[in-house]
Amino acid sequence: MDFTISEKMQTILGMIDEFVVKELIPLEKDFLADRLKELLPVLEEKRAMVRQMELWAPLHPAELGGMGLTLMESALVFEALGRTPLGLYTFGCMAPDAGNIEILHKFGTPEQAKEFLVPLVAGKIRSCFSMTEVDMPGSNPVMMETTAVKDGDDYVINGHKWYTSSADGAAFAIVMAVTDPDAPPHRQASMIIVPADTPGFNLARNIPVMGHEGHGYFSHGEILYQNCRVPQKNLLGQEGHGFVIAQERLGPGRIHHCMRWIGICNRSFDLMCARARDRIIAPNRKLADRQLVQAMIAESAAEIQAARLMVLHAAWKIQESGTKEARKEISMIKFTVANTMQRVVDRALQVHGGLGMTDDTIIAHFFRHERASRIYDGVDEVHKVSVARQILKTYENKTIK
Ligand SMILES: Cc1cc2nc3c(=O)[nH]c(=O)nc-3n(C[C@H](O)[C@H](O)[C@H](O)COP(=O)(O)OP(=O)(O)OC[C@H]3O[C@@H](n4cnc5c(N)ncnc54)[C@H](O)[C@@H]3O)c2cc1C
Repeated sequence: MDFTISEKMQTILGMIDEFVVKELIPLEKDFLADRLKELLPVLEEKRAMVRQMELWAPLHPAELGGMGLTLMESALVFEALGRTPLGLYTFGCMAPDAGNIEILHKFGTPEQAKEFLVPLVAGKIRSCFSMTEVDMPGSNPVMMETTAVKDGDDYVINGHKWYTSSADGAAFAIVMAVTDPDAPPHRQASMIIVPADTPGFNLARNIPVMGHEGHGYFSHGEILYQNCRVPQKNLLGQEGHGFVIAQERLGPGRIHHCMRWIGICNRSFDLMCARARDRIIAPNRKLADRQLVQAMIAESAAEIQAARLMVLHAAWKIQESGTKEARKEISMIKFTVANTMQRVVDRALQVHGGLGMTDDTIIAHFFRHERASRIYDGVDEVHKVSVARQILKTYENKTIK
């Protein structure tokens, strides 16, 4: 594996770092105070600046108007943008649009590309991904109650979803629904594109998550699909291939999440070190002089480095051998980095004392919102079971002395 960063990438990362510090971090105050409605027009101006700098949509293909970076290159971009919760949105590479763009590009018809994909990459519209259900276990999604029944040229969708992130204001949802209940479990469901203005697409509420309902992009919707009728041409890919497509969506997506989390680790770590350096804790004594604080700093540095190298290795393996070959590595980074991030953010909060609990720094936001990292895109336990099974399989016929 080669860790050299090309000159082109050094320039791009330098520009992003500067933009994050100068243009985005100053906006975090409004973001943390929930002034999202006022903030969104300002973010539109920042997005225009990003487009002018030709840094829009770094991971999306150049022919669609993105920068066309490789997975390894875009991983570094996600690390840089992850330092602020406003980074990915401003650069047009945020979930769930990023994953939806990937599958629309790979599986969409030319008509679907024109109507949904092109404006999505351009940032003219937003989308959401609607799979998890209120009454069914998201960790075992083959258990699904939402149905899409054929009627004439249409599908009629009924179901109750939640945690459809960013549904508020989205132009369309990609909905996972059972199209053939008699097929084998992994062939029962399909993905269907549902415009949000379709009668029967009912956003019931933005779910309060850790005390915040959010707004627009920064929210999680609960949606009732009530006799929601869309044309059959809105089927994405083949009927019954919902889970096949979902797998495609999750491979590179997990690299992006994990590198964003490394960005959160880096920011929290910097804040922790700066606070330890500056905070006088006794006459002529700074926090940084205390060995217990030094241990937190050393452990965090080592854990971040280990996690970062694991993610870059997984990205390299996907690039070299494909998502399927890298399944074990992808699962390992998902639970490792989520837990590393939580320990690092927790230590940064601890070192800040009472200040860490306030919204006067970004740390409390990270602490609240990133707890979810151990739940979405596969709960810790499911990834651990998957890793253990893959490893144990290799031992079935091995003699160990
Ligand atoms: C912030 C956030 C954003 C999200 N965004 C989206 C989105 O945009 N679209 C979408 O469709 N969904 C989204 N989700 C939903 C997410 O994918 C599900 O919450 C997740 O799959 C878990 O499903 P569940 O909540 O039904 O938990 P359950 O399946 O009920 O599991 C509950 C707990 O059981 C334990 N568990 C589960 N399986 C096992 C096992 N095999 N062994 C041991 N223990 C186990 C785990 O501790 C798990 O946390 C989001 C969730 C969050 C928190």
